[in-house]
Formats: sequence, C-alpha cells, structure tokens
Amino acid sequence: MSGGTGGSLAIIGLGPGDQRLLTGAARAALDGAEDLIGYHPYVARVPERPGLRRHASDNRVEVDRARHALALAASGRRVAVVSGGDPGVFAMAAAVFEAVEHGDPAWRHLDITVEPGITAMLAAAARLGAPLGADFCALSLSDNLKPWDVITARLEAVLRADFVVALYNPISAARPWQLGAALALAAGIRAPGTPVMLARAVTRPDEAIRVTTLAEARDAPADMATLVIIGASGTRLIPRGGSERPFVYTPRSVAAPA
Ligand code: SAH
Repeated sequence: MSGGTGGSLAIIGLGPGDQRLLTGAARAALDGAEDLIGYHPYVARVPERPGLRRHASDNRVEVDRARHALALAASGRRVAVVSGGDPGVFAMAAAVFEAVEHGDPAWRHLDITVEPGITAMLAAAARLGAPLGADFCALSLSDNLKPWDVITARLEAVLRADFVVALYNPISAARPWQLGAALALAAGIRAPGTPVMLARAVTRPDEAIRVTTLAEARDAPADMATLVIIGASGTRLIPRGGSERPFVYTPRSVAAPA
C-alpha cells in the first residue's frame, strides 16, 4: 500500500440494483472494506457484517462525504465509498477526486481505486433492446450543481446534433418541472413520433419500463428512480403485438447527408 498508512479507498459502483449485476471486483472490494460510506439507500444495499462500520449520509453532502472517506483512509482504514450504477457517472468518484485535488497533499499518495459498475443507462438500454446502438450522450437534468441555462444549452446542442440522449436525474420533489421543460425543448427540435423511453428502477423489484413518443411523453410518470432516453432520428421500434413491449433499437449505420 502506498502512503505508508496501510489505508486505502475503493470507490465502488453497485450497479443498478440486482445483486447479480455487481461485478466480482466490486464484491471483492466490498468484502475487504472496514468502513462503508455513501448515500443511505446505497449503503443499505450492502449486507451488514461484523467488522464493517457503516456511515450513511444524505444526498447533498458529496464532497464532505468524500473528505471524510479520505481522512479515514489516511488514518489507516480500508474504506469503501459506494454509489449506485457506476461511481464515475454523476456520482461519488468525481467528488472524491475533487476533494483530493483541493485537500491535504498527503491524500494524493493514498491507494485510491475505482471499481466500475453498470450504469442506469446501460441497464435500461439492455431491457429495451439497443437504443444506444449509435452515437449517444448522457446528461444530468439536476440543477443542484450547475445552472439550468447550461443544462438547456447542452440539451439543445445534442438534440440538434441528433444524438440519442439519456437523461439522468430527470425529476425530484425539489425539481418538479425540469423534465417537462426538457421534453418541451425536445419537442421543438425532434419529430413528435420520436421514441421516448422511461425506465424506472431497472433490475429492482419495482421496475417499470414504458415506451412512448415525444408527443405523449409529458404525461408519462417519472420520478427520481427513472432514466429517460430520447431517441434520435434513426431510433426504431419493432412492434410485437399484444401487451408485449416493442423492441427499441438505433441502427449503427447513418446515411450520408444528401
Ligand atoms: N451513478 C448512477 C447515477 C446516479 S444519478 C449510475 O451510474 O447509474 C441518479 C439517477 O440515475 C436517477 O435519478 C436515475 O435517473 C438514474 N438511475 C439510477 N439507478 C437507476 C435504475 N436502477 N433505474 C433507472 N434509473 C436509475
């Protein structure tokens, strides 16, 4: 171990929910931890065991939580910081490195590792078919950490560039109108029949997946456990009849502009 303390910090992705989607490397890192730090629903996903101290916190204190984790690791503890999905996607890994950059110079010598996880966008896409089959991008609609004007400017740019767009953090009790505003912006740029997918709690017992169109998406239910995917011009549905959800895919090939 570097730093001479024996401490370490693993930043671990827990995947979308189903334990079978936790990687073997993530599981091994969890098994080796003495302190577990994260937003409380994620900490709750890791079984209790003797020798594991749990430090659950609420969602608004990411950099404080990161500093706490780094200080514990620097004191010689083996620390695991957990995020849902992948820790590098709108989650704790960036907060940890922000804390390292601005914190105690000794933290730069700590043994810090990142264990990837299956992010919500990939879990949702796998349920639907292959909606992310061609160029796509991911945006967080949360304006807690960036101004709403920046969000709409980025969203408009990627809508005009015809990317498939995955929207994380579409809505919450404190942010009730942002998803409607984003869909209204999309409706001004993309065709009304553009497929829109709302994937809620993917791989968890309360999973709910809906395939709709841009014209109707505003009435579809979404909450903070929902990932929204807006199709590109090439995104297609394969109807299956009856109550079966269509397959959704985006072909990899794109015609040359006329
Ligand atoms: N690090 C996480 C994302 C954190 S941001 C990841 O890689 O998945 C939180 C947002 O992720 C939620 O608002 C929702 O949009 C999405 N999300 C996380 N888990 C999800 C799941 N199981 N099903 C659908 N969306 C999910």
